[in-house]
Amino acid sequence: MAQFIDTAKITVRSGNGGNGAVAFHREKYVAAGGPDGGDGGRGGDVILQVDGHMSTLMDFRYKRKYVAGNGMDGTGKRCTGKAGEDLVIKVPRGTVVRDAATNEIICDMSGDEPFVLCRGGKGGWGNQHFATPTRQVPNFAKAGLPGQSREVVLELKLLADVGLVGFPNVGKSTLLSVVSKAQPKIANYHFTTLFPNLGVVWVDEGVSFVLADIPGIIEGASEGAGLGHDFLRHIDRCRLLIHVVDVSGSEGRDPVEDFEAIQAELREYSPELASRRMIVAGNKVDIAADRAPLEALKAHVEALGMPFFEISAAAHRGTRELMYAAARELEHLPPITVYEPTYVAPEPQVDTSAPVEITHEDGVWTVESPWVQRLMANTNFGDFESRSWFDKMLRQSGLYERLEEMGIQDGDTVDLYGLEFEYQR
Ligand code: GDP
Ligand code: MG
Repeated sequence: MAQFIDTAKITVRSGNGGNGAVAFHREKYVAAGGPDGGDGGRGGDVILQVDGHMSTLMDFRYKRKYVAGNGMDGTGKRCTGKAGEDLVIKVPRGTVVRDAATNEIICDMSGDEPFVLCRGGKGGWGNQHFATPTRQVPNFAKAGLPGQSREVVLELKLLADVGLVGFPNVGKSTLLSVVSKAQPKIANYHFTTLFPNLGVVWVDEGVSFVLADIPGIIEGASEGAGLGHDFLRHIDRCRLLIHVVDVSGSEGRDPVEDFEAIQAELREYSPELASRRMIVAGNKVDIAADRAPLEALKAHVEALGMPFFEISAAAHRGTRELMYAAARELEHLPPITVYEPTYVAPEPQVDTSAPVEITHEDGVWTVESPWVQRLMANTNFGDFESRSWFDKMLRQSGLYERLEEMGIQDGDTVDLYGLEFEYQR
């Protein structure tokens, strides 16, 4: 039996940047050409994109690793390496993406905007950027940066205005099929619906909403006893719930008991969900031999402040009125929740405590240390924020105090692996 998959854990990895080339222009009759090494290509990004045709996370069940392409190395004659290919991962609408380690929300794939989950590494600089053949490409510039790898959890939380809840076999799928163009599977046995179905209900000109058929919630579902638990997450975002109860007595059930059993499940899952605005629909009135159970349910829910409708989904009775009532309720209810990201990318960590080697000659102070190289590799010098971070890290490392102690003067040059700047106190 196909199973509805609504969570998945995957590992994604963006591509490495290619290395820059160190090459020199050579021509016949030209004794020594200039540096012409091209840059490495950037690594491919890992990108998420909503695919409106997907309704489950099934595809992620068997494939768990997603890797974008690496950038190619630069070559001579100023040839930039080919960029690594981006990897686009398609997800169903309503997929919430979390960091697997911290559980923080990275993004909520509810809109159509693509989201870059992992940026490819930058390509390294070729020596074409350095004017003279004598100046070698600084090491930090030559190497492409590695791509990032991360583990994320995908969780599908459907985007629907209204969710149908209730025991299996009470007629939820039938109702959806009658009021929308959706064609859910309808059958006279329990646990028929394994996939949530969405349908658009057109109430009036310009008035419509999305209705979701949530597979049957069973007793004990909120404790993980059955199918239902997984599906409860899908009503998390619904603005309004329609609770469908079989009032026909055809299965010997007590409508009030059924109603309360489902309410208990909702409360168990989330008290917030249990207090969500709800309309109650007593279904199958066409075959109700006795009206007493129906009247008992009506009195019970109206005392709780919930509107009650008697309907027959199969006979299309009362269904229009029910949909009108839902549309009216929605006018006063807040929009569908879109989750705000809570994940903050950590600043790259560079340990600046290791010693530096400083040499001084003719007003040029050359500073060398592996951490300085690492710091430079992590800095995007074209980006203001990145540059400020670089400055801050240098300042905090105590480098300037050391230079002062050694007698550096305003206007002297500081050379960090080929990156030169004038010292100002
Ligand atoms: P779900 O499990 O809640 O989605 O229930 P279904 O929509 O699959 O319906 C279960 C069974 O009840 C099917 O055999 C339907 O034909 C039947 N059913 C649904 N609504 C009505 C109704 O209003 N009257 C009658 N007599 N049968 C109905
Ligand atoms: Mg169903």
